[in-house]
Amino acid sequence: MPECRYRTWVEISRSRLVANYRAICDLVGPQVTVMPVVKADAYRHGAVEVSRTLEQAGARWFAVSSVEEGVALRQAGIRARILVMADFLPFEREAVLEFDLTPVIHRLEDLAAWERMAERYGRQLSFHLKLDTGMGRLGIREPAEAIIAALKRCPSLNFEGLMTHFASAAHYDTPQTEQQLARFKAVAEQLAAVGFRPRYQHLAATVPIAYGRKETWGNMVRPGQAIYGYISPVRGPAPAPLLKVEPVLTWKATVLDVKELPAGSPVGYGAMYWTTRPTRLGILTVGYGDGYPHRLSNRGRVIAAGRIVPVLGAVSMDLTAVDLTHAPEVRPGDAVTLLGREGRVSVDAHWIAKASGTISYNVLCSISSRVSRVYVD
Ligand SMILES: *Cc1c(COP(=O)(O)O)cnc(C)c1O
Repeated sequence: MPECRYRTWVEISRSRLVANYRAICDLVGPQVTVMPVVKADAYRHGAVEVSRTLEQAGARWFAVSSVEEGVALRQAGIRARILVMADFLPFEREAVLEFDLTPVIHRLEDLAAWERMAERYGRQLSFHLKLDTGMGRLGIREPAEAIIAALKRCPSLNFEGLMTHFASAAHYDTPQTEQQLARFKAVAEQLAAVGFRPRYQHLAATVPIAYGRKETWGNMVRPGQAIYGYISPVRGPAPAPLLKVEPVLTWKATVLDVKELPAGSPVGYGAMYWTTRPTRLGILTVGYGDGYPHRLSNRGRVIAAGRIVPVLGAVSMDLTAVDLTHAPEVRPGDAVTLLGREGRVSVDAHWIAKASGTISYNVLCSISSRVSRVYVD
């Protein structure tokens, strides 16, 4: 096994990232712009490096959550358009302009404020408008007439995009997505009838892309998870997914120590585990301080020398114990895989999410800054 240079690290495959992006582009076709979502540091894959790689692969738009995330990409030299999706506060307005970010507007009063900014700076400013079509989070809920009246008061703005977000895209057992889509279409048609036809209409994140809900694609899609190689399981009568993607991130840790414990020995905090036979215990350089879920105490699995081995006892802040009895060749200094694949066995973010009572997004986003990042081809 190669020598470890880090205590715990993630390896991010650029070629898989690009392959996932291309698979999405191929699925949606050339009429639909693919805007990779790189919020939350690209689901901890590293927003700058992910955006650089995808920009080279042809991406012309990226979506982030906050102005701060957008500014970081600009400062790293990203030149593609950057959409700020999760709103901004008055103190962030200047930075939106200065760093050439494209805001999503979520309230009609903000539209008026943005118009005043455009007038003050003598520039035509682009924005996307978000409708709350039934998710009950951010977005405009007013009727189309009110939106039209507000847009008419904004001659200095370029209304470039109309968007919404689905609350239950993975739930094929509820009509919520259809209802949201119908609401979106009704408002879009009323706006179009008086001449407001934004260049982009976008509604779909990973699930409606992957499951081929074409009526939601508009002419722009916003994949996050799929870019990183994940598609959430859906429930209810769903068609087979059309998209094939592969996880981009592999998470590894190093074996610090290996020791033999006799039967009947406690392991770790709270003696949550007692050995039932002589046990070869491996101590790993990872814990919940790195984002390895504490909930994996006595439940987790890692891959050691190509075999799945169980976590024993409590995951602590910096260390985790595993049972290496059946992986006798593993020595201190060797690497094990916490998340990823070795040969035919794999542990992915879906599995960790299930075992720790959360969702795969949360598993990826929890990987802490203490975990080094290595980009590989
Ligand atoms: C996070 C997010 C996305 C991407 O979602 P995935 O399920 O990861 O593809 C798209 N649109 C909005 C508004 C989001 O907040």
